[in-house]
Amino acid sequence: MKLYELSLSEALEKMAAGELTSVELTRSYLDRIEAIDQNVSAFITVDREGALGQAEQADKNRKQGKVGELCGIPVSLKDLLCAKNLKMTCGSRMLENFIPPYDATVVRKIKEAGGVILGKVTMDEFAMGSTSETCCFGVPQNPYKKGYVAGGSSGGSAASVASFECVASLGSDTGGSIRQPASLCGVVGMKPTYGRVSRFGLTAFASSLDQIGPLSRTVEDCARVMKVIAGHDFMDSTSVKREVPDYTASLTAGLEGMKLGVPKEYFTEGLDSEVEAVINNAIGVLKEKGAEIVEISLPHTEYCVAVYYLIASSEASSNLARYDGALYGYRKENTQSLLEMYKETRSLGFGEEVKRRILIGTYALSSGYYDAYYKKASQVRTLILNDFKKAFESCDALISPVTPMAAWKMGENTDDPLAVYMSDILTISANLAGIPGMSIPGGFTQAGLPVGVQLQGAHFTEDKLFKIGFNLEQALQLQPRKLDI
Ligand code: GLN
Repeated sequence: MKLYELSLSEALEKMAAGELTSVELTRSYLDRIEAIDQNVSAFITVDREGALGQAEQADKNRKQGKVGELCGIPVSLKDLLCAKNLKMTCGSRMLENFIPPYDATVVRKIKEAGGVILGKVTMDEFAMGSTSETCCFGVPQNPYKKGYVAGGSSGGSAASVASFECVASLGSDTGGSIRQPASLCGVVGMKPTYGRVSRFGLTAFASSLDQIGPLSRTVEDCARVMKVIAGHDFMDSTSVKREVPDYTASLTAGLEGMKLGVPKEYFTEGLDSEVEAVINNAIGVLKEKGAEIVEISLPHTEYCVAVYYLIASSEASSNLARYDGALYGYRKENTQSLLEMYKETRSLGFGEEVKRRILIGTYALSSGYYDAYYKKASQVRTLILNDFKKAFESCDALISPVTPMAAWKMGENTDDPLAVYMSDILTISANLAGIPGMSIPGGFTQAGLPVGVQLQGAHFTEDKLFKIGFNLEQALQLQPRKLDI
């Protein structure tokens, strides 16, 4: 077994036993990145020197008995999280040369726990997209099939974990951007409850929907990282003061007495039959493990895509107003006036998809249209939340597909934004309702593409999702497959 194939828990054990140092582990990942990343295109920035320095420090700390929960563990960061003195592009020309002077709270927590930051990974520009193809600095490949998308917007996070270029990664999820690429790349991804993880230092896309969360190769690894990043932060007023449970504590408990709901609206036309088969198999497996399966209804599911794209775009149009070329990032030079500088900078600096969202959002918020679009969408959002509240009165968690289909070919659908928006239908409602959602590898299609199983739970029930996910993972025992990189 290669060092980079170790799980987080295995690596910690070996380091604790004195059989492995963080420097050795970090080197094995850096060498792996150097050897294969030209095929995967997961990394925008690799911080070799910084990572080795942090690894040396972690080894020193361990010797002195200062052993954090991630002591010596190499991770990657989606390139919209601020890490001090490390370039942060958000996948956009607009921030091509931006170097943040501070750490995001999650980055600080990872560092304080002894984690090693390997670098920053590719993503859709400003996290808008479902394939990472709008990234200006490389488009990640699906590690299981050349020429297929890794998903998005945290495509680099998922691809870097799946291709063993890091132990775990942090991504962000506004409408599915952790769970969808996790599903498409065959890794575990958790989108926590809104307010569970601080967003200080996360580049805002849609502030009422954005959450940061971990991606990893096993459920236990995901729970370990989640434990480190969760919790209240006085720098983020939307983070919630609530105790953080030990997410690893209840993993091995059985599922007796648990009720899992199957939302019938998620199993309609457009759902690929191979995806459906993987989910049905997972449902069968969990039933055998003692869970009771009940059908439930989320009647407002059909409105989710419209509501999400109005709300997310409206918030994006406001959040992205700050990129004007005046203080940092890209600026069009040699313009005649301040207004022209703003206009040219924004026209040239942003890509097509981002500009489309800014236009949709500006329209939806403008006077005369606000009531019909933004306000109406906000009202329907409450109905969607109520659907979930009702569902969780009769079950502990929901099980469903993450996406209606497995990964598709790169370049497909790039001229049809609506088709891509529609593929988000099964993930965006969790963001609208603020509830946690998770993707766990469930199987593969005939073509060898991974398919994830989605679990969604009531607010702050991440521990339940980890427990169900762990049971599923253990029961399925998916065998490692050869990567196509
Ligand atoms: N695919 C969705 C979008 O394009 C979700 C993105 C995300 O979660 N960041 O908006």
